Amino acid sequence: MNQPQVPPEMSLTDCAVLPTYVELDELIACPEALACIAEQSAIRLDMLPVAIWPNELKPVLILACDSRADNIQSERIAQLVDYRYQLHLVPCASVELGLVIRRLYTEAFTSQQLLEMSRLQIDQQAVIETVAEYPVHLVNALILQAVRMGASDLHFSPQRQSLEIRVRVDGVLLTLACVSRSLLNSLLVRIKIMATLDIAETRLPQDGQFRRIVDGHNIDCRVSSFPTVAGENTVIRLINAQKQLHKLSVLNLPQQIVDQLCSLVHRPAGLVVFCGPTGAGKSTTLFALLEQLDHSALSVMTLEDPVEQRIEGIRQTSIDVSRQWGYAQALRALLRQDPDVLLVGEIRDTDSCRMVLRAVSTGHQVLTTVHANDVHGALHRLQDLHTDNSALALGLSGLVAQRLLRCLCVHCKDGVRGCETCFGTGYQGRQVVMEVLEITSVLKSAIMRGESIDELHDRSIKSGFINMRSMAMQMVRAGITDVQEVNRVLGVAATF
Ligand SMILES: [Zn+2]
Repeated sequence: MNQPQVPPEMSLTDCAVLPTYVELDELIACPEALACIAEQSAIRLDMLPVAIWPNELKPVLILACDSRADNIQSERIAQLVDYRYQLHLVPCASVELGLVIRRLYTEAFTSQQLLEMSRLQIDQQAVIETVAEYPVHLVNALILQAVRMGASDLHFSPQRQSLEIRVRVDGVLLTLACVSRSLLNSLLVRIKIMATLDIAETRLPQDGQFRRIVDGHNIDCRVSSFPTVAGENTVIRLINAQKQLHKLSVLNLPQQIVDQLCSLVHRPAGLVVFCGPTGAGKSTTLFALLEQLDHSALSVMTLEDPVEQRIEGIRQTSIDVSRQWGYAQALRALLRQDPDVLLVGEIRDTDSCRMVLRAVSTGHQVLTTVHANDVHGALHRLQDLHTDNSALALGLSGLVAQRLLRCLCVHCKDGVRGCETCFGTGYQGRQVVMEVLEITSVLKSAIMRGESIDELHDRSIKSGFINMRSMAMQMVRAGITDVQEVNRVLGVAATF
């Protein structure tokens, strides 16, 4: 039966987040989008398939074109593309469009080949000899793959015989590819060029950044290279610049915890301290809490090291310790900006601790983090940094500790664990586990009296405090995660 020839719709009104401009230099080839139009047709019509986005009715095929593209061109492209796609045209600089079209079609072809070979650990020499620009294509293909897997980092770790390429997904490293060591230099040079680093410098650590467009999303890539005896270890952190800010509701926290958090941040003044290791999702929670506040009625300001994700409606500042612009100095200046709510990235020393407590005592709401494992450890750390127990007791409203636990993959949790969707790990996605200690008047007086951490711990247990492990075990009973994962993240429980 013949399919009816329905032309795709040329406009999209209900999808505001689609890209509005494409920087051609930053494009990474999307093989599926390029497969929608033959290379020759793309060159003839001067239009480049950029990405395919899922959409309720029809998937959207995003095409880059000259901003002067006319209706005739649009109609022609509509006739070429499968009617199941809705088209979205995005303007780009027209000067080099033809060149970019050729480059991306070549890249889509070779990168898949290279990736497949490196996954199977086949010697890539044959492909390399035929493709002049293989480092460009291979690095792009690896970034594409990493972003599609939802990875936060892409690691290039030189070994004696090989170069191991791994991705961090849901906090755990997975091997993406293993390529011959002879490719090491060309790949690292390519990454350094992308990040505008010194390619001749191999003995000192360097850091830089670049941006790439992957599947129509802007990805900020922060590069860090570090000399090791086996060669330079290079890590690319991948940050989706357009990623929507999380709302507290999507963190899937138990209602009781949401209520506790809200009551802590909606106080007119006070200090709320978060703790947990790097990568435990503290920033996500902190920004979700800030998002709850009324930005039109309150002045919300942040000090971060550095600002990673820009948020509409709040004023963010990066601190820079190397230029005498640490948390304490920045905070002193910030308080003259008449803020209501402050997010201070971290309390690291006595100075910043004292400044934060001063801000609280003058009627500000401050959210911050300290380096500690759990809420009682955080309290102990604050007592260490600030010897004035009464100032601490008066200022502190609450402490929060959190971790991220990997969730059981819904596709394979009832059968043999490990499937294609979860890359064979048996887990997919993560969920926050949290403990919240509200500093009640009883605890305040106990802190003021200078009670020890053990005494404070006993006191909080008596007042109904639920620790992270109990919360995690509730998640195990609910079938969200398993005991192995809880032990991996929180350590094996002590048995008496
Ligand atoms: Zn699975």
